[in-house]
Order: sequence, then C-alpha cells, then structure tokens
Amino acid sequence: MQPSPRHVRDCYTNEPLRRLKKSAAFFVALFVVSLWVPQPSAQSTLTLVKAGRLLDPRTGNMLSPAAVLIEGNKIKQVGSPTQVGVPAGARIIDLGAATLLPGLIDGHTHLLLDIVVPPRAESERHSNGEFSPGLLLSVAESPSKRVLMGAQLAREDLESGITTVRNLGHSGIDGDTELRDAIKAGRVTGPRILASGRKLIAQGSYFQNLNPALADAILHQEFLLVNGPDGARQAVRENIFQHVDVIKVTTGEDISVAELTAVVDEAHRQHIKVAVHAADTNSVQTAIDAGADSIEHGNQATDLQLQQMRNKGIFLDLTPTFYDGFFLKITEPSIVLPQAVHDAEVSAAERGKKRYDELVHRVLKSGVKFSAGSDMCWFYPGKTRGEASTATFVNLHRAGMSPLDVIRAVTTNAAEMLGWSDRIGAIEAGKFADLIAVGGDPIADVTELERVKFVMKDGQIVKNNIVPH
Ligand SMILES: [Zn+2]
Repeated sequence: MQPSPRHVRDCYTNEPLRRLKKSAAFFVALFVVSLWVPQPSAQSTLTLVKAGRLLDPRTGNMLSPAAVLIEGNKIKQVGSPTQVGVPAGARIIDLGAATLLPGLIDGHTHLLLDIVVPPRAESERHSNGEFSPGLLLSVAESPSKRVLMGAQLAREDLESGITTVRNLGHSGIDGDTELRDAIKAGRVTGPRILASGRKLIAQGSYFQNLNPALADAILHQEFLLVNGPDGARQAVRENIFQHVDVIKVTTGEDISVAELTAVVDEAHRQHIKVAVHAADTNSVQTAIDAGADSIEHGNQATDLQLQQMRNKGIFLDLTPTFYDGFFLKITEPSIVLPQAVHDAEVSAAERGKKRYDELVHRVLKSGVKFSAGSDMCWFYPGKTRGEASTATFVNLHRAGMSPLDVIRAVTTNAAEMLGWSDRIGAIEAGKFADLIAVGGDPIADVTELERVKFVMKDGQIVKNNIVPH
C-alpha cells in the first residue's frame, strides 16, 4: 500500500524539524528548494490525438484523416495531420482507423437512482406504478450510500463515452451537487455534472398515501414543494443555496402557470435555466406559457405546441427510455407473467413504439430544437449505467431519426440546451478536450455509440481499448 500524502506529511512532524520551522533559516531553505523543483515545460502538456476520421456533428463533415492537438485540458487545434504537425515533446495517441466524436452529453439522467422494477403485484398497490416503490426505498436509504452508488454510476457513464450529464433530480438534498464537486476536484471519476438538486413538485406528485408521521421528512429529503408563486420562488432559492446549476420542475395539472412562471422568473433572475418535466398536452402548454427553457419528455406535444416551442426557442429534450418494451427487458425473468398479461404488455409496447415514432417524425418536421436524455434511473440487468444510457440514445434512430441528428442530439444540440456551447459538444479549438472514438463509422451505423472504445475527458484518457496503454 502506498503511503498517503497525509501520512508522508505526518512523518515530518518530528522535534528537530519543528525547531527548524521556527527559524528564519527554514524559510530561506524552503525558498531555495522551491527554485530547484523542475517546472513542467508548456510542451510537456501537449497531446496529439490522431484518428482515421473525425465527425463534426454541427456540419456533418467527416475529416479524414484527422489530428487533434490538446494543451492541458483544452483543444488547441483541429485539422489534418499535415496541418497540425507534430509539436516537439507532444505525447502522441494514435487511434488508427477509429472515428473521433465529441464526448456525449446526456441531457437528462438520475445518477443517484437505480430502481429495480418490483414484482407486478407490488407495483399495482402503489399509486405510481413501477416507480414509487423503488423511489421510496431510495429515499429511505442512507444519503451516503446513495451518493456512493451515484459515484459508481457516474464512472460507468463516463466509461461509455458520456462526458457530461445534466442530473435532473432524485439525489436527496445535495447528493448530485456534492458528486459534481467531488468529480471536479478529482476525488472520484465521472462526467461533468450539471446538478438540479431537488425537484420542484406539487404535493401529491410521485408519492401519495405515505405514513403521516413520516411523510414530511420523506418528501423533504427528495423534493421541494411548490405551493403558490411565493412558495415557488422560495423553492428556487433553497436549491440555489445548494449551488445547483439548473432548476427541475415536474408539472402535471397540479402546478399553475402562475406558479411555474414564478419559478422561471426567479431562476432566470439568478441566471439559471429551468427544465420542466411535462408529458401530457396540458402540462406541455403550462411549460410553454411559463417560458421553460427545456421541456423534458413532451410525449404528447401537439404540432401546434411544437411550433410554439420552436418560436420561443424552447428545447424539447426527448427521452426515448421506454421505447420498444423497455420494461420487458429489465424485469427479472424469474417473475413469470401470466401469458395474457405478457401479451398485453407486448401490445402496449408496440402501441407506445408507434406513438414515439410519430412524435420523432413530428419533431423533425416542426423544426423545434431538440436534444436527448436517457432518463436512466433503472437497474438494467447485464448492462452498466453507461451502456443502458447510450442504448437509449440509439432508440431515436430506431424511431426514425437520422444517425447524424441522433449524434447532434447528444452533442452540439445538448450543449446548446445546457448553455455550454462555448465549452463542450464539439471538437473545436478552445473547448474542453472531451473526446470519444468508435471503431466504425457512426453515420453508417449509429449503434457504434453503444460501443465507445476510447474516452478522454479534460485531456485525460479515461479508457483506451484501441491502443494498449
Ligand atoms: Zn427524469
């Protein structure tokens, strides 16, 4: 076992040294020693990544062959290998014939939630179907246990090429903001996180019929309750106290336009965007009228609403999580469904798939700005969190979106939705060195996104299955 830096420091606290520290000679000695420490030259932080191809999602152009020069944690130059050259002292990473892409951005995830789908009988006696029993267990667990699980899921996301996530709730009071800061400080490995802190909801959403003696404590752990416009502003301020990056609100027919407008106004006044969960037509209208920055899910948005969103510049964050019988894939096979129930689930999945295909078609036709999020909060047997999330993005192609648009949804478009176009979402000079590489051509086969072979975040290699290292 390596001694920790703290242990090494402790070894120096002996009596002669303590006496020396008190003397002026000590400070002179310290100054001289500091001059002797070799300083890294600027060139030693240069990295040259070479690959067969580089996709620019914004234009759709494929640069071939490609070179990306990285200095520290930022991209310095992008071009052909001849244009970029090989600066003296640069570390060279040759990815052969692989295709480089910007690091993926998951616009909607829940890193501190990993719900095991309960048996059907358990779901049916709760008011919120599959979600509520698992969520209740999470809330009842130790926040420390939850955040450590979140650290694992964050690492799994990064290893699959997701270099930035927007975490939209279900993290306890400060689980996602603390995880974000721990990753930033290098204490744990994970993607950049934009954290929403607690979800703003109306009482009665998600949980109902809880033990009255415990209800307030349970709700407070997971949510901020919106009760009138003044209460809505207060909820935003409570989240800002935890240094959130974004406000998340869940709107059903239980939140008024006045309340949601107050949320948006308060958040915007403090330069924070608002993501609104709205699935049905009425909720989508509330979110549009209140001036949300992004509408999450939006499954029942009408053509007229998509036009209104386009005109107001509101993003639709598509979450094709349940596409094509998702629950049938994640339910334990040991829980045998009666044939009639199984058949009903299969036909419901087929209807849901058809509706989603239509939504994607209407979204593309409308010209509304769109991005994508996995909305992953489910335990997926046999897949890491990153594998489950990237598989969700690919569902958009199966629903009729071109591979280039799918890639845009999780790179350039998502960066714009987050307000981070200046730092992520593209391989361009000045942006963070968040790069991934896949073995084949992702425009010919977008499922390549499920098989990311090389991941770099902040100029640091997270994974390289192309070149042994
Ligand atoms: Zn969600």
